[in-house]
Amino acid sequence: MLISPLLKHPGAYVDGQWDRDGEQSFRVRDPATGQVLAELPDHGGHGAKRAADAATRCMRHDAMSLDNRRAMLKAIAQLHDDHRDELARIITMENGKPYAEAQGEVAYAAGFYRQAARHMGVLEPATLDERPRDCLWTVHRRPAGVAALITPWNFPLAMMAKKLAGALGAGCAVVMKPAEQTPLSMIALMQLIDETLELPAGLINLVLGEPQAISDAWFAHPAVRIVSFTGSTEVGQRLIAASAANVKRLALELGGNAPFVVFDDANLDRAADELMPNKFRCSGQTCVCTNRVLVQQRVMETFARKVAERVAKLKVGHGMDEGVAVGPLIDRAGWDKVHAHVSDALARGATLVQGEPAERPAENFGAFYPPTVLLGLTPAMRIAHEETFGPVIALGGFHDEADLIAQANDTIHGLAAYVFTADAGRAARVAAQLHFGHVGLNTGVGPTPEAPFGGMKQSGFGREGGAEGLLEFTEIQTTAAGK
Ligand code: NAP
Repeated sequence: MLISPLLKHPGAYVDGQWDRDGEQSFRVRDPATGQVLAELPDHGGHGAKRAADAATRCMRHDAMSLDNRRAMLKAIAQLHDDHRDELARIITMENGKPYAEAQGEVAYAAGFYRQAARHMGVLEPATLDERPRDCLWTVHRRPAGVAALITPWNFPLAMMAKKLAGALGAGCAVVMKPAEQTPLSMIALMQLIDETLELPAGLINLVLGEPQAISDAWFAHPAVRIVSFTGSTEVGQRLIAASAANVKRLALELGGNAPFVVFDDANLDRAADELMPNKFRCSGQTCVCTNRVLVQQRVMETFARKVAERVAKLKVGHGMDEGVAVGPLIDRAGWDKVHAHVSDALARGATLVQGEPAERPAENFGAFYPPTVLLGLTPAMRIAHEETFGPVIALGGFHDEADLIAQANDTIHGLAAYVFTADAGRAARVAAQLHFGHVGLNTGVGPTPEAPFGGMKQSGFGREGGAEGLLEFTEIQTTAAGK
């Protein structure tokens, strides 16, 4: 078991109370070693409904002022700062990512609460200058209602922070469900919130367990007005169908297939340096990490060599071990997908530039995949069209701008893209033609709490971060006051 001062109550948190007795239970394991970290209750649909009922009561009785909400958000951010190292240890133990990366995730998560606090002014009512129809018109940003938040395992703290900060800031009470593989980070944060802040019962509810029953209960609950989901496009599509019956609003952050574009005038060393953290963060299991590296033909050989040199230095191992840059994949199914993509590429003519033959893990843990570089990516390969979610760099060529734009946009996804060129005019021109919500120009950086982020096409809709992340959880109400 994972012993931590932040895990005194390994269970759900509903209506201001810890609840450790579920109808069923499930285990959380260290993905590197298989060690059982916790046995947690699964409260199923009943627990999810109870949580939504508590949130409904809270919204009815305990409207918090903008100032109080701002103070609450700042206090939650501070809890992250004060307990960064222990929160990071819990993230590494349940997710597998290197400890330094986990520390970065804690700071990143804190940023969303801070930014939401900073932008609270956008929620103030706005009165129109004109007086049409002889009335005084005011536009109000009301809380959308109870907000249901569902997140994946790759950023156990930060994915929920993006949603929770926006929802609480907007004045919503919240029911949330983290991924079954990584619920401990949010349980730890909930303990800190419970011990430190005096919040109304039912404002924040944490539910654990198998997702279908929980999400069914929330889609059926009349007070749940918005479901904010981060995860795969496949599950997102199911949620779109589920939202129809009771016309629930959705915010969907779904899968990606990011192109990383290198023109022949780019600073190749910089591009190769930027590619490393972009591609290998969380062992390549992030929605914004590069899936396809598209390189202008003339510099392909040089760039591939620079990339392979850097990849050869990456140390693979347990996230808590010194110097480790790449941890395990989350499970054996993840490993199988990565291996299938590499095998498919090799069978279709790609060349292995870097990486050793990988051995399938015997169990559902220890799924270490060697950082791999492939040359000769073509549109016929699975990597070109599916999210690999692993430590694999696949390089393919392009001839000119038109060819590049066609290849880069040839995907159902539209989350993130990166372009390296010394020509500022070209950078602006290409960015305008790329159908991706986030475009890095001469940088591999992904989203930041200060700016809105979200997808186009089948990467979803809605925005998180910035002022937009707050507005996502509001409903506009217009009042017209006559004389
Ligand atoms: P997933 O299988 O879709 O799961 C994500 C979350 O949804 C988990 O909490 C999961 O619960 C829950 N879930 C699964 N089936 C559900 C259902 N039928 N109804 C309601 N909830 C359900 O995705 P994943 O494999 O964990 O995460 C990886 C995916 O997330 C990738 O595609 C990645 O690109 C995407 N992602 C996108 C963003 C973004 O910002 N766009 C960010 C991060 C990740 P359980 O864990 O209990 O099964």
